[in-house]
Amino acid sequence: MAMFDYLVAKLQCPRCGHTAPADPSTNMQTRLRLDACMQSLGVGDPLSFNQRDAVEANYTVLQPWQPDESVHLLDSWSCPHCLGDDLWAEVTIENGRIRAIENVRLEPALLERVHLVCELYNWK
Ligand SMILES: [Zn+2]
Repeated sequence: MAMFDYLVAKLQCPRCGHTAPADPSTNMQTRLRLDACMQSLGVGDPLSFNQRDAVEANYTVLQPWQPDESVHLLDSWSCPHCLGDDLWAEVTIENGRIRAIENVRLEPALLERVHLVCELYNWK
């Protein structure tokens, strides 16, 4: 089994209103780091990758980004309280560090600024 890390943040569930803690209970997995090793990555932590790394980590590139640009990606998470899944978070990475991880709803305006979306994404 390939290794991964967890992206962690306090996230409020849009279904039940419970705020999930910033720990792996939200099951937001990522393989962006080449040396992923089950670490919890949160706001302020370093996270560096290039476009090829992202493709190999099973992200779909919606649009390319410039080296000096902040990268926005969408990952899915699940609520540890109501077990609702198919929830989405926008992760912003700036200068090789995680700047924000926020609960979001999928909508066209969001997709206009997002560069990467994880493999689970679909419109159904
Ligand atoms: Zn919930």
